[in-house]
This record gives sequence, structure tokens and C-alpha cells, in this order.
Amino acid sequence: MLELKHIVKRYDYMKVLDDISMVLPEVGMIGIVGPSGCGKSTLLNIIGGIDKQFSGELLYNHKSVKKSLSKYRQQHVSFIFQHLHLIMWLSIKENMKLSLFFHKQSVLDQTMDLSEYHHQKISTLSFGQRQRIAYIRAFYQYKDIILCDEPTGSLDPHHALEIMKLLKKESQEKLVIIVSHDLELIQSFCDEIYSMKDGHIVEHTTLHQPITSFPYPKHSKRMLFPSLRLSWKSLMSNKKRTFQMIFGFSLSLICILLTLTMSQNLEYQINQYISSLIPPSSISLKSQNVSFDLDMIKELRKHQVNRIQLFLDDYECLGIGFVEKQYQQSQTLFIADDSSPYSHLLLKYGTFPQEDHDIIVSLSTASHLCGNQDIQKLLGKKIYAWYKHEHRVISIEYDVVGITSQKTTVDTLYQKENAYIRLLKEKEEFSLQSHLGILYVDQDASMEKMIQNYKHDFPQFQFIETGASTRKQVHSVMSQIKMILYIFSTLAILSSLFLIGEVMFFNTLQKKKDYAIMTCFGARLKDFVKLIFFESIEIVIFSLGVVFVFYIQIVYGLNIIVKELLFNQTIVFSIDFMLMGQVAVFSIVIVLLCQIIPMITILKMNTIEALKG
Ligand code: ADP
Ligand code: MG
Repeated sequence: MLELKHIVKRYDYMKVLDDISMVLPEVGMIGIVGPSGCGKSTLLNIIGGIDKQFSGELLYNHKSVKKSLSKYRQQHVSFIFQHLHLIMWLSIKENMKLSLFFHKQSVLDQTMDLSEYHHQKISTLSFGQRQRIAYIRAFYQYKDIILCDEPTGSLDPHHALEIMKLLKKESQEKLVIIVSHDLELIQSFCDEIYSMKDGHIVEHTTLHQPITSFPYPKHSKRMLFPSLRLSWKSLMSNKKRTFQMIFGFSLSLICILLTLTMSQNLEYQINQYISSLIPPSSISLKSQNVSFDLDMIKELRKHQVNRIQLFLDDYECLGIGFVEKQYQQSQTLFIADDSSPYSHLLLKYGTFPQEDHDIIVSLSTASHLCGNQDIQKLLGKKIYAWYKHEHRVISIEYDVVGITSQKTTVDTLYQKENAYIRLLKEKEEFSLQSHLGILYVDQDASMEKMIQNYKHDFPQFQFIETGASTRKQVHSVMSQIKMILYIFSTLAILSSLFLIGEVMFFNTLQKKKDYAIMTCFGARLKDFVKLIFFESIEIVIFSLGVVFVFYIQIVYGLNIIVKELLFNQTIVFSIDFMLMGQVAVFSIVIVLLCQIIPMITILKMNTIEALKG
């Protein structure tokens, strides 16, 4: 039983409804009549729970529902509008079952035969057909209050009569309230009539007692993944705009991904290059007068010093090759680095050097040496290295015992600490002089402290941290480059924020009326939040799909270009999965941020105004 107590409704200072009180039965057909502008629709909206701003009480089964209007509306009320208010971007079936999107509820067992409407769009239907759909929508789920605002307003007398008959039948097991200005029609069908004038009820007549019938059998029904379906439909309602948005968003995400991947790879390459030139964590050692010799190394070695490499004066490693006598042949390789430590490297094949004659080479050097052949064949092979000293070339025989897994920007061989000095000494009788050396120190050692200690213990030598200033300079140039890249990335982010934000906002404005219709058929705030959330997730999933496919392809293509066109084996761009994950999270945040304004627009929406629009 529905009861209205002292309802007052004002628009600004104008009283549109003035102290309306009604007691409405559980079943029956109630007519509300009166001249245009007397407040009939306003009253119906209050009964339907879509107008929240009124004073007075609305009671359902003696309980106030004023504080839980959306729940009351969802469970008990259904609408039939004069202008039908179908949602054009939903299918005919989805329009009929609209309320199922928002809550599970009992539907009538004898659901109507909808097969005739398969594969048809709402826009292709005639007014009569559309009206049928609007009626099915109102009765599809079992609701005990049906509100009809001028249901026959746009119909010819014959159709109007049909509709009234249908409503009369429905009123045998529920409450049907009809607002109309057609007094004759109302009088011939309704059980009770309220006449209104200027916001007052001026007359209430009871014509007959309502006929009740046994309720139809019903069963509970729910829709699978309603929010997902609705959000998908909503996105697809304007395919062009959605695809433009996904395309734009994907493009900026790809730009960001590529920028970051390339800058990170570049920095890594540069660091690699620098460390192949300047060894990490090392102290260079110089002597003005005395020449270092191998015995001195024992004294110089301290805690946290891994390797002490001496460099001979007037000496140069010319290269390596397979034939002892011919160091200038084509298979000869110019060796740019033969003194680096190797303990931190990983081996791809073979073992680390055990003897002075053992050497290992980097992967790129091995493939340079082997040409097209299998590099594993290098293991155990004899290799000759030529050293130039005082205009003489001296060769030394080495065994290749291992190949490291890393590629080097310059050709590199590794050997035991000062092995070449001992081998040269063995071969040549003259004394070898050295005034320069490098101390390789643990990564975590404090350089400053070590240098201080060395200076104290060996005041006759100079100790300088190697490559500190070069590394610093490269680092500052790199951070400037990165800064510029980050600025570009930020611009890409901002532009995609604007793009998505704008599309979403216009989408919401355009669908405002549809959201209001959904509200009338049971959608609550949480349904709109879900709708928008799922929309965002769908946009993100699609964009990321596009982004990742293109990203992988582009990185792959870049590597081919670098390898085939620039003949560079050492620069390899690798796909950064960590970065992909970060971009995924980041894009969800962006899209959700873009949805804030549309969300607020929906939350602030005035259902009644939106329905008129
Ligand atoms: P009816 O349905 O009986 O024709 P309504 O209930 O639509 O009348 O309107 C009742 C009165 O309220 C009318 O005078 C109308 O001008 C006024 N009214 C309706 N909506 C608004 C609004 N949003 N702002 C101000 N006045 C309104
Ligand atoms: Mg009206």
C-alpha cells in the first residue's frame, strides 16, 4: 500500500504541489487528471522515486521510503512514458530487459515472444512497434507499481483504447497510476480518479472496487555479466569515436614505451662502452721515477683489491690471429682491450683461464674470429697475439679456453693478471719497464678512503680514481637527454588525458537522457560507477593490446634495421616487460582519471531534467 502525506514541492519559490495526501490501494487503476501545468507529472515523479527534492512523506507498506528512494524504485516501480524513451544504442531485446542489467528480479513465466524483433534496430521500427517494446519493458520484470504519464497522449483513439485495456488487465494484480488529460478515457477505465488544479487535489472519486486476479507465476532471472555487456554496448554505440580514442591513446602509449626503451637501452650501451674503456671501480697508479715490477704487486695488494694490472712502457697489443708469422692478414683482429678483469663475467662456453697461456674472448670477438663458423670450435685452438715494443713485433701463443656471454663494443680478450708481462719476459731478455698500472677494487669499496690509505702507504706513487670525471660527464649528458625524453612523454600523457577526457565527457553528455532512463528502470549510483569502470577497463585492454603488439613489432624491426643496415651487432634493443607492466598500470590510472569528470556529471545528474532533454 502506498501513502502520500502532506507532499509539498517547490520550484524556486513557486509551490507546484501544495499539501498533497493520498492513500493508494495495492491493486487497481488510479487516474490523475487536471489541466496542463497543474502538477500531475511532478506528482508522478515523486511517487516513482525519481524526484528527491520534496517535503512530506512517501510511505510504502507504512514505512517511509524517503531515505531509500533508489532501492524502493528498483524493487517496486516501473514506468511508461508518453515519449517512450527507448535507448537507441541497445538492441530491442536489451531495451525490453533493461531492468535486468541492474538487478536480479522475478520475471513473468509467460515471457512474450520476442523472436519477431531479432536482428532489427530500434531506429528501423515504427512508432507502434516501439510502443510495444516500451510496454514489454515496463512489464518484463514484476513490479507492483506502474506509473504512466500520458500513455495515450500520442495515440489515435483506437490505439488509446487498446492500451487502456492492456493497463486495465495489468491493474488486476498491481497498482497502475495513469496521468492523463483525457477525462473520458480515464472515467471509463479507472477505479479511482484524483482531479488536480494548481497543485491541489480538488476532487477524489471512487468509481468501483478493483477486480483482483491471482498473480501470474513468476521465476527469478538474472543476466550474465550485466555491467560488462552494458559498458561494451555503450562503447560500441559510437564505434568511430571509440576507435579514434583507442588509436590516439595507443599511439601516445607506444611513443612513451619506445622512448623509454630506447633511452634505457642507449644508456646501457653507453655505460657498457664506457666500462669497456674505463673499468669500473678502479684506481690508476702512476710512478714518476721507479719502474713497477711484478714483485711490487704483492706489496700493493690490499683488502678489497681484486686485480693489479700493469702496463708496459712503449708497448702495444697489435692484434690476434691464427697464423704466427702474419699479423697483418685478414683473419687478424685488432684487439682494443687485453687487460680487463673477467671475474664478474659469465661464461657461455669453456672455462676461465688457469694458466698464463689461457685466454678467453668476448662473444662478439669470438664471432668476429670465426666468421660464419661455429664459435664453439674456437675452444682449444691456438691463437697468436702480437705485441709491438721498441719497433719490434713479438708474438705470443695462447690457448682459447673460454667465451664469455657478453658482447663488447670493441674486440676484447681476457687473461690472468699480468700474464702477458710474464710471457713477454720469458720470451725476451731485455728488461720491461712499467710506470702505469690499474688497481681493480670491489664495487662496494670506498674509493676515497682507499686512495687516502694508498697515498699514505706509498707516497712515492700517484693514485687517482679512474674515469670518475668522464663517467660524471656522460651521466650528466645522459640525464639531460632523459629529461628531454621525459618531457616529451609527459606531453604525450597530457594529450592522451585531454583526448580521452574529452571523448568521455561528450559521451556522457550525449547519454545523459539514457542514464536517466536507466535510473527509472532500476539503475543506482553503483551501477553507473560499475558501468564507467568497465568502460575504462575495456578501453585500457584494447589500447594495451594494440600497444603491445606494435611495441614488440617495432622493437623487433629496429633490431633488424640496426643489424642489417647499420651492421652493428652490439646494439640490441630488448623488450622491457617490466616497463610494459608499468605502462599497463599507468594507463589504467590515466583512463580512470579521465573518467572523474564524466562520473561527477552522472552523479550530479537530475533525472527529471535529463529525461526532458
Ligand atoms: P503537468 O504534468 O500537470 O502538465 P507539471 O507537473 O509538468 O505539470 O508541472 C507543474 C508546474 O511546475 C508547471 O507550472 C511547470 O511550469 C512547473 N515546473 C515543472 N518543472 C519545472 C522546473 N524544472 N523548474 C521550474 N518549474 C517547473
Ligand atoms: Mg505532464
